[in-house]
Amino acid sequence: MQAENPSSGTGSAPLGTTNPSLKAFRPAGRGFWHDVSEADWSDWRWQMKHRITTVEQLKNFLPTLTPEELAGAQLANTKLALGITPYFFNLIDSADENCPIRRQVIPRIEESTTAPWEMSDPVGEDSHSPVPGLVHRYPDRVLFLVTDRCARYCRYCTRSRLVSNASGYDFHPEYDKQIAYIAAHPEIRDVLLSGGDPLLLSDEKLENLLSRLRAIPHVEFLRIGTRIPIFLPQRITPELCAMLKQFHPLFISIHANHPRELTTEVRDALGRLADAGIPLGNQSVLLRHVNDDAEVMKAHLQKLLRCRVKPYYLYQCDLIAGSAHLRASVSRGLEIMEQLRGHTTGYAVPTYVIDAPGGGGKVPINPEYVLCRNAGRVLIRNYEGKIFEYPESADGQPCGQPPKEIAEPELV
Ligand SMILES: *Cc1c(COP(=O)(O)O)cnc(C)c1O
Ligand code: SF4
Repeated sequence: MQAENPSSGTGSAPLGTTNPSLKAFRPAGRGFWHDVSEADWSDWRWQMKHRITTVEQLKNFLPTLTPEELAGAQLANTKLALGITPYFFNLIDSADENCPIRRQVIPRIEESTTAPWEMSDPVGEDSHSPVPGLVHRYPDRVLFLVTDRCARYCRYCTRSRLVSNASGYDFHPEYDKQIAYIAAHPEIRDVLLSGGDPLLLSDEKLENLLSRLRAIPHVEFLRIGTRIPIFLPQRITPELCAMLKQFHPLFISIHANHPRELTTEVRDALGRLADAGIPLGNQSVLLRHVNDDAEVMKAHLQKLLRCRVKPYYLYQCDLIAGSAHLRASVSRGLEIMEQLRGHTTGYAVPTYVIDAPGGGGKVPINPEYVLCRNAGRVLIRNYEGKIFEYPESADGQPCGQPPKEIAEPELV
């Protein structure tokens, strides 16, 4: 730890100099689909129907496909399906092999390499599953998997074993059993719908599911984890928002990793959700050559606030099989966090967590701000590396005791 010089190491620009191209909201553009009618383009079902799912299509649309990507794409359908909506495809910079959007969605041959510590179920969900499709890891809340489908598949997905069904996991949620379990466990006050992507269900199906959960008296709080507002902002229709609005308190966590994902279409879709009174959070995954840079991350988080979204979690990338090429180190993550707290709006700062391998749940990790805690005092440092002392006392006692003489503090 470097208390004296917390900003060393990342080489990033100081606050306020963030690259304007990272900050700007732009439409995704039409690209190859310029002759599609406006009605079709803005229809989410059209977008889903025209997803890029085969290697041949990918070669056509992305002539700059590298040998590593081509080999990855050829293997993709045995592991995690390819599936990119035209809207999202247009965010790829075809001239840039290292485009941060491209790295998230185009498979690479490195996915077929599995390190010894990588797993197909890295956070031990299956072992905390009392009924299929329900993960009950924490005392008062459950994760409710509603589908194995997503609008597009992220190459680092923790649930690769399950989503897209390419690896034969054969996921069939049974809502009746999942709901019966929740109803029978009065300690469950918070239900998190995820998947796969819950917003891929039809409005009717989702409404039915939410109504059944709302009918359980001890379920106080509902939330949905979804990447749809990012992949398929067209899905966020006024009808969907009006339906969701009936189920408050309902929160939504989106999943965006790079400021270029926040287009004008996405900003408007998020605005519609926020106007329906839905508090919005974001979960990002720290990804190598995507957002493992303090300037990019800061621009992303600030842009999320402009979309009325509070950054919630920044995840250390789970140890999912074949994800090493996308994983940034914990030290890198800590360096980035160091550049955020104090340097920018507190609302923009997510909690950086490791979802403990094997099933320990999310554990927050932070740069160290408490330098020493002993003999009647706490020694802290601020974001600038300046050191301060706060007197410690027994709970409820006046802090009047002068700090005892102590040796030079040891940095923890
Ligand atoms: C992340 C997660 C939750 C929700 O955790 P919060 O910290 O409350 O957001 C619940 N259950 C499981 C299994 C999870 O992975
Ligand atoms: S949207 Fe979420 S569940 Fe779906 S592939 Fe991406 S990370 Fe996995």
